[in-house]
Amino acid sequence: MPAQEIYLLDLGWLGGDIGWFLPGGAGGGMTLSNRSPARKWVEIPVSAVVVKHPDGTVLFDAGVSPKAMETHEKGLVESFPIVRMSDENRIEAQLEKVGLKPKDIDFIAISHLHLDHIGQLAVFREYDTPIVVQKHELETALYLVWQGKGGAYDFADLGPLRGAKWTPINDRQFELLDGVVLEWTGGHTPGHQVMHVKTQSGQFYTFTGDYLHIPQEYDAEAKGWLLSDAEEWHAYIRKLKLMQKARKGKLVLGHDPDLWKKYPAAPKPMA
Ligand SMILES: [Zn+2]
Repeated sequence: MPAQEIYLLDLGWLGGDIGWFLPGGAGGGMTLSNRSPARKWVEIPVSAVVVKHPDGTVLFDAGVSPKAMETHEKGLVESFPIVRMSDENRIEAQLEKVGLKPKDIDFIAISHLHLDHIGQLAVFREYDTPIVVQKHELETALYLVWQGKGGAYDFADLGPLRGAKWTPINDRQFELLDGVVLEWTGGHTPGHQVMHVKTQSGQFYTFTGDYLHIPQEYDAEAKGWLLSDAEEWHAYIRKLKLMQKARKGKLVLGHDPDLWKKYPAAPKPMA
């Protein structure tokens, strides 16, 4: 049986330079005829996905720590500051809107280990909930953080998760539940994965994590500075477009500035 209902959780907002998302050609970089291009500050929502399924409840991603401005590397939160956050954006409050408590989550799947995807994961620690992540992602995050070169991976998030029920996978595609498929994409980070969900009405949704931050990346088939491997990224974009066309699927970009204009936040189901 495929998924019953899908909810989007509203976990606050971050800000950042447009150049993180789109390459210079989209207005970010200097050219001979324009040596001082206008910069643009973009604000993006931070969200997570809850899939209610007959075989269990899945959480995909876990937002940013509400305390990140005080606890995280200065350079990181200077580049990606929290611009909106209230108690209502805490994951417990968001889950409560859909009648769930943290202990009711059976499986956690994580797109990648950047600060805005695992920041509230420690909430689930005491329930020993399995955290499904690509093995290569976990290795990369720990390796970089240990060298003090974590970038958007931060020890303030990862440290408290030492000994959690990490469940590393090495699969290109992994069907966690019937109709709930994790697929490795790489590109944004070495172990990045997206989640495909089929609903009982036969609709396909792809939750892109940070493979895509804003819709212009999909249209332009390009990404800004938040790209660790361009070859990997490009190897997947056409496949993703093909899948969308073949399945009449819908893409859900968790950081789309217009996300909340396109889909309702919990308590309303988005599907
Ligand atoms: Zn990221």
